[in-house]
Amino acid sequence: MIRVLVNGADGRMGSQVVKAVYEDKDLEFVGGVSVTNIGKDAGELAGVGALGIAIREGLGQALDDIKPDVVVDFTTPKVIFENAKTCIEHGVNMVVGTTGLTAEQRGELAALAEQRKTSIFIAPNFSIGAVLMMKLSEEVAPYLPDVEIIELHHNNKLDAPSGTAIMTANKIDAARKAANAQQAPDKTHESLDGARGAKVDDIPIHSVRLPGYVAHQQVLFGGYGELLTIRHDSIDRKSFMPGVILAVKKVSSRPGLTFGLENYL
Ligand code: NAD
Repeated sequence: MIRVLVNGADGRMGSQVVKAVYEDKDLEFVGGVSVTNIGKDAGELAGVGALGIAIREGLGQALDDIKPDVVVDFTTPKVIFENAKTCIEHGVNMVVGTTGLTAEQRGELAALAEQRKTSIFIAPNFSIGAVLMMKLSEEVAPYLPDVEIIELHHNNKLDAPSGTAIMTANKIDAARKAANAQQAPDKTHESLDGARGAKVDDIPIHSVRLPGYVAHQQVLFGGYGELLTIRHDSIDRKSFMPGVILAVKKVSSRPGLTFGLENYL
């Protein structure tokens, strides 16, 4: 049995993780940490009935007391770097779904994890369909290098552009460079601030935030007289759970830092 603690256990994603861990026969849910709903039963909040495990505050203390094998973190971009350092320093393997870690921060965490001989796995997107969307985008990019991304999320999302959109842009750019293919220059001369989106690797990313959406992305490739659009929709947070559970089971097999679910598929 792999003993799992969920950080952010009462959140939209965290409570789904509590349920998915509870329902998996190889995993044991042993603790839930948050800054809200302290003292409430994590199972009741996740909709699986009382588990006798109360949400508690303070990740470091919880790790000392509970000694889990793996921490799954779905908290906020503001606290994820500190959370990751805390887990690595405690020698606990970690699965990170929280977005917002910069490449520089990931580098620091990789060095720390290597030094402490722990494993940390980070995925901007745990859905299989989203990973395939990125893989297909990489394949198309050398042939149709002119591309823009539209990502659409619920209005409570704290970061923009989404981690998935940034990762998609990074991958498209690497594929274009490897094939010596370039995006045509943007000829826009006058525009309102933000009208052309935020540029990551010179690829415009347009972020939509509205109630009703969960997590959606379109990658639009333009050619001469033709367009190719790759679209992915997560319509339920359940879509992320097979990827999270897979990562929890595999995280210890790769020491150091691993980035992206494609490494486990
Ligand atoms: P949410 O606001 O519903 O949940 C976050 C939870 O973390 C809340 O319960 C909050 O109280 C708790 N929290 C805040 N600060 C904390 C701290 N210091 N310690 C412990 N808990 C703390 O948000 P959400 O929709 O569940 O998303 C969480 C994160 O996951 C976001 O960064 C989001 O972008 C990301 N996300 C990733 C994926 C993926 O596939 N990788 C999918 C969906 C969301």
